[in-house]
Amino acid sequence: MTMNRRALLKGLGAVGVATATGGRAAVARSRRPVAEDAVGMLYDATRCIGCKTCMVACRRANHLPYEKPGHPWDDPVDLSGRTKTVIQRYRGREGQSYMKRQCLHCLDPACVSVCMIGAMHKSEGGIVAYDPDRCIGCRYCQVACPFNVPRFQWDSPTPKIVKCEMCRHLLARGRLPACCEVCPTGAVQFGKRKALLAEAKRRIARHPDRYVHKIYGESDAGGTQVLYLSSVPFEKLGLPHLGTESVPRLSETVQHGIYKGFIVPAALYVLIGAAVRRHHRQRSVDERKEET
Ligand code: SF4
Ligand code: SF4
Ligand code: SF4
Repeated sequence: MTMNRRALLKGLGAVGVATATGGRAAVARSRRPVAEDAVGMLYDATRCIGCKTCMVACRRANHLPYEKPGHPWDDPVDLSGRTKTVIQRYRGREGQSYMKRQCLHCLDPACVSVCMIGAMHKSEGGIVAYDPDRCIGCRYCQVACPFNVPRFQWDSPTPKIVKCEMCRHLLARGRLPACCEVCPTGAVQFGKRKALLAEAKRRIARHPDRYVHKIYGESDAGGTQVLYLSSVPFEKLGLPHLGTESVPRLSETVQHGIYKGFIVPAALYVLIGAAVRRHHRQRSVDERKEET
């Protein structure tokens, strides 16, 4: 699913740039700077024991219903309209690892870029927040997200989008996000993005044999506020290669290129229109002359 979306975005980008600029380079819109107060989370997969306490705490803290009401054992395998985070297991040639799926709180989020009425927006600390009162249910955010995160409540008469908002209701009360508060091993931690990035670099330097030498989210997709450390390649855990440009930076560059590209055809249209009108005027003058 993520691969298709990525391929589609890449394809659209290539076609759009070529169409808009006639082969000339489009002027890219500037990068979004990282706010000094940007908060974040660091998930270190090598510390995760797969206990899923974070999933239970997330459901409780966000008043989300169980996936299967009435079932004694609730163990969702993917994000959904009822689940904001999920722990998935990878086992393969590269070893085994857990992976915590949730919104990555992109520095330059595609979901915010496409939301026309600001239901999805950047809030305090750079958290990507959702306002259900503004949402019209168009689900553009779902299509735009390169990580396939936002989910829709298909089974609700008043459906909303569901995604992690970093427990901003708890942060506002001076508490930690629920998953970070309960994690028994410190596999998921909350803090300032800058400090978490420095901590992640320290861990790799201290244990170079334990980690893939990369912090996912440092610059991927323009950078994210949820950062990942792992012992197995990130793409095996479902974190795709997206390059260092954010999706909105690419799409907005293409849009601006297209608008710019309209200038020449529009000018030609005006000139042709003027020439046609002049020709018609001349013809009617000539016809009047012939009649007299
Ligand atoms: S991961 Fe998806 S939903 Fe979360 S901020 Fe980025 S684009 Fe938006
Ligand atoms: S920060 Fe809150 S909403 Fe997000 S995954 Fe953790 S518990 Fe769930
Ligand atoms: S609570 Fe911590 S150790 Fe347990 S599954 Fe969640 S992130 Fe992993």
